[in-house]
Amino acid sequence: MVRTRFAPSPTGYLHIGGLRTALYAYLFAKKNNGKFILRIEDTDQTREVEGAVDIIISALDKAGIHYDEGPIVGGDYGPYVQSERKAIYLKYAEKLLESGDAYCCFCSKERLAEMHERGATKYDKHCLHMSKAEVQERIARGEPYVIRQNIPETGSSTYHDEVFGDVTVDFKDLEDNILIKSDGMPTYNFANVIDDHLMGITHCIRGVEYLMSTPKYNLLYDALGWERPVYIHLQPIMRDERHKLSKRDGDAGFEDFLQKGFLPHAIVNYIALLGWNPKNNREKMSMDELIESFSIEGLQKSSSIFDETKMRWLNSLYVKEMDAKDFHGAATPYYEKYYPGKKIDYEYLSELLQSRVETLSDIRERAAFLDAFENFDLELFVNKKWKTDIAMAKDLIDDCIAATKAPDLNAALETLATDKGLKKGQVLWIYRIAITGAAATPGGGAEMVRLFGKDEVLRRLDVVKSRLN
Ligand code: GLU
Repeated sequence: MVRTRFAPSPTGYLHIGGLRTALYAYLFAKKNNGKFILRIEDTDQTREVEGAVDIIISALDKAGIHYDEGPIVGGDYGPYVQSERKAIYLKYAEKLLESGDAYCCFCSKERLAEMHERGATKYDKHCLHMSKAEVQERIARGEPYVIRQNIPETGSSTYHDEVFGDVTVDFKDLEDNILIKSDGMPTYNFANVIDDHLMGITHCIRGVEYLMSTPKYNLLYDALGWERPVYIHLQPIMRDERHKLSKRDGDAGFEDFLQKGFLPHAIVNYIALLGWNPKNNREKMSMDELIESFSIEGLQKSSSIFDETKMRWLNSLYVKEMDAKDFHGAATPYYEKYYPGKKIDYEYLSELLQSRVETLSDIRERAAFLDAFENFDLELFVNKKWKTDIAMAKDLIDDCIAATKAPDLNAALETLATDKGLKKGQVLWIYRIAITGAAATPGGGAEMVRLFGKDEVLRRLDVVKSRLN
């Protein structure tokens, strides 16, 4: 059975690239009727942020990426949090020490710094040749030590990556990395191998930054007599040709985009296509459709550039098809934030805005007309296209008041245009400016009257009348 995993470190932040890694692992597992596992890689406790695991879990949930096994839900291969697996790693480290594939290292920070100062680019295997007795003695004395992987000094290793093909690395380019730190915690370099094996992971899907260190992990699989997983390394998401999307630029977090008014599935749909080609020319796809079309062959070898404009467009398609109630629910926090306490029909406002925004945060700009009336510039009546001006507004204002009181506003405005020998567009322009003070509104005069209510519109027309006179 196919088993994939997403293995984030709890940094308090889900990068859009991490979300995409999770998504591909999820899609691949589901496509193959397999299982998707969430594993928390918290062995570097200096990087840990409080509440970070909850942030990851809630983000995956919002994104519609459901894990079969992991923290909270559990499973047969737990625990799924690495810091709770400390004893397991130590057991396998012992095995590697016995077979000579790992060794204890007592080198002090100072010695290592000195070594690097002398130009060394990697650890010099200084402690490898220490006698067993000396090792025992120093451990017994309570000296701090780490356990390092013993990498052959010559030769090379080749493995197959599903995206990048055959990858060969010379052992001389690899370092005897630390497997177990002096506090007894494993490093990523060790824990990923132990956990992927013990959790039955068949396909290891992760960022390309691990492509060249995978031969090290393969040596561990071999030393422990374990089968290696299938490797699928992914190119990063870029901000432009040369820079990755980064947290520092504040434009890389899943939550950041939710804050910006993107819908979770629109983000998921967009990033699915950043680095994977469904080969069906489709762009808008539901999660089920993504699962159905997903294949490793469609993964791109080159990195992809994030295009927020395109994501906005995709988002607008999802906004348009939202249930009116859902849209209103999603829009309400934006009204509360930017336009609270207006005496308008907010539900009707949602109806007007739904087809006119690409993201929910566009509401701020699209609803700015709500605040436009107060002291608006009378020059707005001047419109080149419609050939309207302030004098024309002054001439029409009483008729606008009468039309507002008429049973059918549009018919009344049309008659008014005919009577005055004007174009209908001219009258509508003057009318809408007079009642909103805004050049851009979602809908025309009739919609605005319905939104603000007849009494408020009549009050406004009176105000404008006195300003014009
Ligand atoms: N904890 C690693 C990271 O966040 C996981 C890499 C992997 O998937 O193996 O980059």
